[in-house]
Amino acid sequence: MQDIGQGDSESISYRPGRSLFAGLLVLLALAAASLGFLLWYVPTVGLRNIHPALPWLLGAVTLVLSLAVFGGGAIILNAALRGRVPFYSRWLRWLIMRFYLPVMSIAGALLKMPRIKVEQAFIKLNNQMVRMMARGLRPRRLLILMPHCIQFDNCRIKVTRNVRNCAGCGKCEIGELVTLSDEFGVNLFISTGGTVARRKVQEERPDAVIAVACERDLASGLQDAYPLPVLAIVNERPRGYCMETGVAVKDVRQAVIDLAGSPPGL
Ligand code: SF4
Repeated sequence: MQDIGQGDSESISYRPGRSLFAGLLVLLALAAASLGFLLWYVPTVGLRNIHPALPWLLGAVTLVLSLAVFGGGAIILNAALRGRVPFYSRWLRWLIMRFYLPVMSIAGALLKMPRIKVEQAFIKLNNQMVRMMARGLRPRRLLILMPHCIQFDNCRIKVTRNVRNCAGCGKCEIGELVTLSDEFGVNLFISTGGTVARRKVQEERPDAVIAVACERDLASGLQDAYPLPVLAIVNERPRGYCMETGVAVKDVRQAVIDLAGSPPGL
């Protein structure tokens, strides 16, 4: 029988101490009290009476914040309507990764737009930015991540530990992907799930990832992996989700070329 005290970390429920709760409550109370005091004090006394430069400082901060909010809003609106971004910058990528999806999801829900459409637009924008930022990478620093459901259902060969076990019979795309990985010298991994895929990324620490999955998994995976560049390719689902899915190998090949150039000898 397993000793509860020796169980792994996942079996132990996290119980924050009373002192932590008390500390957080005190902090929250102090923050609320400070805010309340400022809301009363500033209009009562007046900024100029506190310091002559404060009205200008507050004006400058408000102006910068307004420009950031409106500029960001305009870029997000442009991205949503036209499906492309005008330029690449770290700031823009952060904005798209951290704000686009939540904001567009809410807007999409209000407009009764299917979530998958928002995710597809998000993936398209992400890919566009990744292609702008990640070029000329070394092939061996790339990782191609495939979902396990791409494997032919009746294949008894275990490819999740070692993809080289594949016999290349042609009943699913894994054989072709192994050939592609040899041709370019890129790392290929077949993952049984999101947790395993994340662990693989942490272990390998690649410069970029080419990931194949459904829109929902890609959208959440892209956000989890940020700031790591991930080129996302939506899978084919002739039999529905998670069952003998497929991928256009030419799209994976093009993704490798976009990030690392043509294979040696071409
Ligand atoms: S290509 Fe490889 S993984 Fe796919 S069915 Fe054939 S042996 Fe199995």
